[in-house]
Amino acid sequence: LVDIRGLHKSFGDLEVLKGIDLQVHPGEVVCVIGPSGSGKSTLLRCVNLLETPTAGTVRIGELEVTDPDVDIDKVRRHVGMVFQQFNLFPHLSVLRNCTIAQDKVLGRRGEEADRVARANLARVNLDDKMDEFPAKLSGGQQQRVAIARALSMDPELMLFDEPTSALDPELVGDVLTVMRRLAEEGMTMLVVTHEMAFAREVASRVVFMDDGTIVEQGTPDQVIGAPQEERTREFLRRVL
Ligand code: ATP
Ligand code: MG
Repeated sequence: LVDIRGLHKSFGDLEVLKGIDLQVHPGEVVCVIGPSGSGKSTLLRCVNLLETPTAGTVRIGELEVTDPDVDIDKVRRHVGMVFQQFNLFPHLSVLRNCTIAQDKVLGRRGEEADRVARANLARVNLDDKMDEFPAKLSGGQQQRVAIARALSMDPELMLFDEPTSALDPELVGDVLTVMRRLAEEGMTMLVVTHEMAFAREVASRVVFMDDGTIVEQGTPDQVIGAPQEERTREFLRRVL
């Protein structure tokens, strides 16, 4: 579903991605791990064009994301993204947060948009909070609204960038439970995470990045359980 080839990204003189090749197949959950500054967020941001790659190609299904003439709305329609910061609209109710992009991007509004939003809020166990405003919710609840909002666009692919890093420890579990369920439903997911237990249990594949390159990838048992590269072992010693 996702095919990344020879992806490079520089910010001025700083080369942040140094030739990334990565494929994600339909229904796969690929977890990206690696030290701070290794380029994990930049990689995700290049997939949905929050950053413009310097070189290389990114395809999502039939859509050539790196085609200079690509319709950026089309990319955003196919790809949902959840960030560390939830970025909900504070002045809109939970339900409206989940309908506004449906309206603006898909032209889906009224009853139908509400129905889709409600169904996705139920998926994240928040259908009882539809009429609340974000400020009245816990961080974990806000993050689950952000997930429901992304799902309401019917994405083919979901990107998660450390979705639990800003949460109090006791709220992390609810968000991971929702993500685990999505994975079980067959959603294709590319997840940057420091949650090694989640990666171990849910990932179809784990990718270890360091210094703008993929150092190794494989099943969780291979990469987390029996890493081949010294850099991976050193990273895991620090985080496990
Ligand atoms: P973390 O685990 O801390 O989130 P990361 O692996 O996600 O790290 P990136 O955010 O991708 O790392 O950043 C990689 C490098 O690119 C860092 O050195 C960062 O300072 C730099 N960088 C990222 N975005 C920009 C930008 N917009 N302009 C300049 N430099 C940037
Ligand atoms: Mg990051």
